[in-house]
Amino acid sequence: TTFSELGLSECIVRAVSDHGYTTPTPIQMQAIPAVIKGGDLLAGAQTGTGKTAGFTLPILERLHKGPNAPKNKTDRRPIRALVLTPTRELAAQVEESVSTYGKYTNLNSGVIFGGVGINPQIKLLKTGVDILVATPGRLLDHKQQGTIDLSHVEILILDEADRMLDMGFIHDIKKVLAILPPKRQNLLFSATFSDEIKTLADRLLDNPAMIEV
Ligand code: AMP
Repeated sequence: TTFSELGLSECIVRAVSDHGYTTPTPIQMQAIPAVIKGGDLLAGAQTGTGKTAGFTLPILERLHKGPNAPKNKTDRRPIRALVLTPTRELAAQVEESVSTYGKYTNLNSGVIFGGVGINPQIKLLKTGVDILVATPGRLLDHKQQGTIDLSHVEILILDEADRMLDMGFIHDIKKVLAILPPKRQNLLFSATFSDEIKTLADRLLDNPAMIEV
């Protein structure tokens, strides 16, 4: 199987080959077509399986076409995909992946996390990004300050959801869910499946495709 056979556009496949990947990993083979279809997804995957490209590639695919797609790289635009991660390191890594694979599209991305100054992030959010990667606490800080508009989010991704729960982010996650538009595509990635994760998945996901690698 090739990346184009999974349903990715030429401009995204080209960025993937520039990056040196020739063959999709097992999680990518399953996740990419499922996410492009538009439904919810529950994925069991450890780090090192290629899970990051497993969700960044199909969300780029979904957002770069269609009536809401940006016409150029510079227009001000609303956040349409929100990725939540447990740590700033992971947030930065995911955003790097989005910008690497999206380099031939008009989509742009940004990252916000705690422990650093908020002003550059306010500027970023004012300029606007199609895909925002964030840690939950700082995201809520922006919400409270009125510096973020989440009313156009179409896709929500919880990456390493088990780690987010281990780190005590369940209340923050619930607060974020409460301020997102109700009609959206939801993806949940987790390495383990405790009862707490299952409860979250039940609450969040509507008839999800399930994959495990
Ligand atoms: P991840 O599980 O997303 O943290 O990815 C693990 C590692 O696999 C990263 O270093 C990626 O750059 C690499 N990787 C992801 N997808 C592929 C692929 N299709 N072919 C080769 N390497 C990959």
